[in-house]
Amino acid sequence: MPETKNTKHEAQLFNSALETPMRPDAFAMNDEEKIAKIQEHFTAIMQTLGLDLTDDSLSQTPKRVAKMYVKEIFSGLNPANKPSVTLFENKYGYSQMLVEKNISLYSMCEHHFVPIIGKAHVAYMANGKVIGLSKIHRMVKYYAKRPQVQERLTKQIAEALKSTLGIEDVAVAIDARHMCVECRGVEDVTSSTITSSLSGEFLNESTRSEFLRFISA
Ligand SMILES: [Zn+2]
Repeated sequence: MPETKNTKHEAQLFNSALETPMRPDAFAMNDEEKIAKIQEHFTAIMQTLGLDLTDDSLSQTPKRVAKMYVKEIFSGLNPANKPSVTLFENKYGYSQMLVEKNISLYSMCEHHFVPIIGKAHVAYMANGKVIGLSKIHRMVKYYAKRPQVQERLTKQIAEALKSTLGIEDVAVAIDARHMCVECRGVEDVTSSTITSSLSGEFLNESTRSEFLRFISA
């Protein structure tokens, strides 16, 4: 049946677009080996730029950058760093919208390797289970700590929350400034980029407006 095939094919396309493109051997090296390798390569970049690495202000930079990449700003590439999420019984019978807004967001543009800085707003309709609020922050951080495009980041957070809670009624909006737009290229320091992923109940006009009203207040 060609229809089934098509649907399946589309689903696969969708999934591969949603996932951060990774090499099959992404974890053949451990963190320490990656740091050593990146340190070597970053040394070469700095030397190519003509910098004198014997200067005591510069000498530790390759090591510092390598550690920062692996252990901090790109730590979300490693599934081992995915936050474990505990769900709680919704004992108090809360059945309305929960919005966690203005979550600090730091990511890195995968096209230029410069920062994306902004705020994430995450909402869901409480149903059977509720999630600890700090876990929402940790999920945002985990997906942000990768080379990203804002559209994929928005969807990855939404999909993770949907599968964790086992519901479709999830909304994610991100408002962020891209340093690749501000400090180079068009050099625009006043614009920001807004993306959203709305599903389930949030596709209804009234629920969507309520969410937008909460996050703009
Ligand atoms: Zn960029």
